[in-house]
Amino acid sequence: MQYISTRGSAPTLDFEGATLAGLASDGGLYLPSEWPRFTPEDIAAMRGLPYHELAARVMEPFVAGSLTREELSALTEAVYGDFGHKAVTPLVQMDETHWLLELFHGPTLAFKDVALQLLGRLFETFLERRKQRLTIVGATSGDTGSAAIRAVAGLERVEIFMLHPKGRVSEVQRRQMTTVRAPNVHNLAIEGSFDDAQRHVKRMFGDTHVNGVLNLGAVNSINWARLMAQVVYYFYAGLQLGAPERAAAYSVPTGNFGDVFAGYVAGCMGLPIERLIVATNINDILHRALKDGDYSAGEVTPTQTPSMDIQVSSNFERLLFDCGGRDGAAMAAQMAGFERARAMQLTNSQREGAAAIFASASADPDATVRAMQWAQRGAAQVIDPHTAVGLHASLALVEDGTLERGVPVVTLATAHPAKFRDAVERAVGVRPSLPTRVGDLFGREESFSEISGDYEASRDFVLENAAGRLDSASATA
Ligand SMILES: *Cc1c(COP(=O)(O)O)cnc(C)c1O
Repeated sequence: MQYISTRGSAPTLDFEGATLAGLASDGGLYLPSEWPRFTPEDIAAMRGLPYHELAARVMEPFVAGSLTREELSALTEAVYGDFGHKAVTPLVQMDETHWLLELFHGPTLAFKDVALQLLGRLFETFLERRKQRLTIVGATSGDTGSAAIRAVAGLERVEIFMLHPKGRVSEVQRRQMTTVRAPNVHNLAIEGSFDDAQRHVKRMFGDTHVNGVLNLGAVNSINWARLMAQVVYYFYAGLQLGAPERAAAYSVPTGNFGDVFAGYVAGCMGLPIERLIVATNINDILHRALKDGDYSAGEVTPTQTPSMDIQVSSNFERLLFDCGGRDGAAMAAQMAGFERARAMQLTNSQREGAAAIFASASADPDATVRAMQWAQRGAAQVIDPHTAVGLHASLALVEDGTLERGVPVVTLATAHPAKFRDAVERAVGVRPSLPTRVGDLFGREESFSEISGDYEASRDFVLENAAGRLDSASATA
């Protein structure tokens, strides 16, 4: 499979190249040059497969040329054999219409583990093949950082530097990052906000001095391999609800548009999908874009669903590219306009393409709390606030008739309730306990470096620490 950039001028790469590159060199995002398609018979033949086998089936066309079927199967078996639930992503029924797809049974209790655990293994495989090292630099408001660190801790050929805004991530989230003790893991607590940390990271990717010394890689959802791994659980849920004969709707708590875009890919591959619901909190740029075609970024308002406190959703570009006729030059021009004005209008073909499959709804703090109460009182399910934003959207769109009665509606449960237990306790009066698989988070020692808010401080820290490890690696090689 070949991968092309949404902005049309970066080199075409194979799966291995696209995985290691992350962002394309023209600033765009990599996508398969065409969507592989399963027939209804292919899909029917997937019924009842264990998760890791289904994963290999669904991902095989995307990795063709870079991994053999046997190599891919070995990877998925190793990754998904290690989750906290035998079903990996169990589907739970709430009432005759509503279902929860539990995506939080990985090591850090958020759905990001499902893809990042695989990405860590892919890095290891490809870097070993190329005899290269990779330095990952990322910024996190919480969930991405811990999941990425757990995915690469201890790998020989990967160094990870994770920047978090000091004092602005929850204690559980911080400890999930800072108590992982491995020589290749570096936590940086930065003075400033998440946006400041994010800006430093972006600047490092464009810094020729840094790039001259280090081979930088990305673990956020601009990395295609992450989205690919997320396509699998749509098939997993859809098959249980009657695919290929019957379609379901999926409601996805959305931030960077990665998870819900994976649902779109599942649809392009032949999975019957009634609707994909983009559920946002009050940071609702995507809801406005899908409703009115107006994609304009405002200021981020902090909420009880921090992993969705985003104004600009990187992966939306992938959808606009695909719906807009896959014209890289036009996409580059449209994005350049957006980067100048922080606003753009969707074209007619983009609007129509998106409207054919997506619906959207946004949840304010009260609606989020009400959805948590509905789940607890009506279905004995304690859910986290992010999941509650998704459930609110599911309930609202069934209520207003956007979704017909009789269509099963799956809300993606993106985080374990214990990860946000203060908010859960305030809403439903129950304090969820941390599953034993996270270990003694509060007994273990933390390790992180406090860094001032200027770019140079972060850059120099990365250069000194990564280069030091590079030297010792070559000295012992
Ligand atoms: C990252 C995250 C999201 C948003 O997912 P995107 O792929 O960025 O849209 C939603 N919920 C939780 C708990 C997350 O960690």
